[in-house]
Amino acid sequence: MSSTLDATVARLHREAPFTDVHAHPSLKAWLYRRNLWRHYRSGKSFNPVSSRSDFKCLERGGVGVLWAAHYLPERQLFRDCRLARAAAAVLVPKHRRLLDGSLFERLLEMMDALEREIERRPEKTELALSAADAVRIRQAGKIAVVHTVEGAHILEGDPDNLDKLAERGVAMLTLCHFYPNELAAHVDGIPKKMFLRKLSKFRFGAHGSPPLTDFGREVLKKLGTLPMIVDISHCTPEAREAIYSELDGERPIIASHVGVEHLNSDPYNLGDDEIREIARRGGAVGVIFLNYWLDASHPKKGLDAIWKTIEHIESVTGSWDHIVLGTDFDGFTDPPNDLKDASRLGRVTRMLLDRGAPEEAIKKILGGNAQRVLAAGWR
Ligand SMILES: [Zn+2]
Repeated sequence: MSSTLDATVARLHREAPFTDVHAHPSLKAWLYRRNLWRHYRSGKSFNPVSSRSDFKCLERGGVGVLWAAHYLPERQLFRDCRLARAAAAVLVPKHRRLLDGSLFERLLEMMDALEREIERRPEKTELALSAADAVRIRQAGKIAVVHTVEGAHILEGDPDNLDKLAERGVAMLTLCHFYPNELAAHVDGIPKKMFLRKLSKFRFGAHGSPPLTDFGREVLKKLGTLPMIVDISHCTPEAREAIYSELDGERPIIASHVGVEHLNSDPYNLGDDEIREIARRGGAVGVIFLNYWLDASHPKKGLDAIWKTIEHIESVTGSWDHIVLGTDFDGFTDPPNDLKDASRLGRVTRMLLDRGAPEEAIKKILGGNAQRVLAAGWR
């Protein structure tokens, strides 16, 4: 693990404050019962036991606000992928937790696990329960952690679970993930080229399911009354379209970890009209740190693809106001070789400076925009 923060970069991270709107430290904390104050191994490429957004990495990378995405793998994953099942049996203590019981209850356990890690070092981290809280915590020199949830399969079809998440302080809900759920249609979330994909028989097929179901409409209506931001990552283009027309234009929408169609025309990525739609609502597009979404033709280094994506969103919207960063660190992903973990995030800021982005724009991308969306869409 290394840190690449020079004085200017460190100052910008402090002032922004540096915010990652999508990372999964709680997944590793819950699965492997990890102490997030220890750095294990960043690991090479896809590595299910890697450690990329533990608090040590966040500290070294100068991250001030972390939107922690809680995600419970869909049960189908273990039916489709024998490798995942075998890996879970070997690596995950009491791995039946992944296969049995209520998904929603497990999610609450995962949130408990993260909160325990936060409470281990109260002088260094604190859970934020509002946008103002995140500012206060950061100003006190600590890392503010915000709960978010990825994949509405977790609701298990019960709209009351949404209220429970809101009460718990969840700021954002990603509607879809890898498999069909009760709400909306999802895009295929594991790239065809990925090694894991070749080894397993995933049956992701959303084919035939409606872009947005009646239950999906009910959930969106309810979300309109709750302090929770809608994240359209993983939805199909048709589902996203339906969500835009269903949701009140006053609330910001986020795509927390995506790329742009302009560079890689995968349905996972956003087209220019959508980028403008999200901007019109005061929302933001989170640039993911994964080359296979950003620029599939690109070799293994990520900084250039990240820059091209940022530059494109700026040119489409005519401002720097709708760009945020959503690394997806500690998801089961394959981050770029030059951005293996959160301790390396200074490289992104240095790159923005070197490419000539104005300091005010950099501060917006690193954290100002995320904070604005949090204040408008949460509490
Ligand atoms: Zn995701």
